[in-house]
Amino acid sequence: MNHSAPEQPADVVARLRATFRTGRTKPVEWRMSQLRRLRDMLTENGTDLAAALHTDLGKSATEAFRTEIDFTVREIDHTLDHLADWLRPEPAPAPAHLGGDVSVWTQYDPLGVVLVIAPWNYPAQLLLAPVVGALASGNAVVAKPSELSPATSAVLARLLPAYLDTDAVAVVEGGVPETTALLAERFDHIFYTGNGTVGRIVLRAAVEHLTPVTLELGGKSPAFVDRDTDLAVVADRLARGKFLNAGQTCVAPDYVLTDPETAAALEPLLVNAVRGLYGSDPAASDEYGRIINERHFDRLTGLLDSGRTVVGGTSDRAAKYIAPTVLADVSPDAPVMREEIFGPILPIVTVPGVDEAIDFINDRDKPLALYVFSESEGTRRRFAAETSSGGLGHGLPLAHLTVSDLPFGGVGESGMGNYHGRYSIETFSHRKAVLDKPLH
Ligand code: NAD
Repeated sequence: MNHSAPEQPADVVARLRATFRTGRTKPVEWRMSQLRRLRDMLTENGTDLAAALHTDLGKSATEAFRTEIDFTVREIDHTLDHLADWLRPEPAPAPAHLGGDVSVWTQYDPLGVVLVIAPWNYPAQLLLAPVVGALASGNAVVAKPSELSPATSAVLARLLPAYLDTDAVAVVEGGVPETTALLAERFDHIFYTGNGTVGRIVLRAAVEHLTPVTLELGGKSPAFVDRDTDLAVVADRLARGKFLNAGQTCVAPDYVLTDPETAAALEPLLVNAVRGLYGSDPAASDEYGRIINERHFDRLTGLLDSGRTVVGGTSDRAAKYIAPTVLADVSPDAPVMREEIFGPILPIVTVPGVDEAIDFINDRDKPLALYVFSESEGTRRRFAAETSSGGLGHGLPLAHLTVSDLPFGGVGESGMGNYHGRYSIETFSHRKAVLDKPLH
């Protein structure tokens, strides 16, 4: 459909709802054709998308493909491979109390028109991966990219209608006024990724229409480092996980929790790890990203004196550059420990041992991710059993979210609900209970 003036949110939703009512989005063939088109969109326009990600975040092409474009292609391929299987009605045991001739099963019904609201840090992946799940589940979708990553938002707003069924998928660009107008409409599901303050606004708006909501939020994800681990390996993996996308990753290790001796041994190894990744002048490295905007730059530079600088600490506002920074001797009450950092600053906080580390974590909001570096099976089991977090990574940060067979989502302050792979089908469908008793 072509429109000369931008469509109002109410009209977009009404148009998509009319399409949904025709049943067009329900057949598995339609769903799979849309997913294949989305895949074509990514493979044919990867360079344009990578250029936009570079404009918005200084993302290197390597990183853009690995963490956004190829990531989404993998999610599509996994879904295409398994969708028919996932959608198969699932028989339940025949209930004895209703007589032997009753059969019962569950089937997935699409929800209707769903809204996906994405943030700016992985602005392509975090818009498109939920869209994959929404389409695979047979829904019509309104996709709202972040206004804080305008180049990527513009490319997605141009490409999505060029590849997908425009009567079933719409992109609405804009910031607070546009999102507020959208949220006034009735959706059948709202999938929001971003911060908890706006998450609460979304949840409040959803209450009016009794709309189910998935909230993919953030928070401070701790990384516990046990004594007697191979600290060079730990430092390398911590630095890779932390400084990817200049630390603007929801599951980045937010801070290191370890004992004082291990902290002292880790410090020089983190210096080496940063140098190994970005050289002695990260500002000159093509692989190192930039801060999204001046507001976040100012917020982050305000956290730089929260401890003793081990490496980094420098910044350049005009370039929105903050060096990969490690801070030691950080007090649990320091400004850097009071909020999610969401930038390239890694504080090291010390505790006497495992018991205190577990208490430290349990005294705070439930994190989106927890990372444990320990050779001790008992210690790893203790963290798994005695703490609660959206995901748990032993020995490797971030990687769990790249596994399509694992649910990705938070708990408590870090969010509600989850997605990826078959978990997206759970999120974007209604699992309907069906009973069938013959009439004769
Ligand atoms: P953001 O500022 O881009 O906001 C996210 C979305 O909310 C945008 O589309 C924006 O337009 C919309 N929005 C902003 N204000 C609004 C309002 N008043 N009413 C309605 N909508 C509004 O992104 P952000 O929140 O800065 O993202 C960073 C946060 O997101 C971090 O806390 C991070 O941990 C979290 N995050 C979580 C995940 C996850 O998968 N769990 C992934 C990435 C980021």
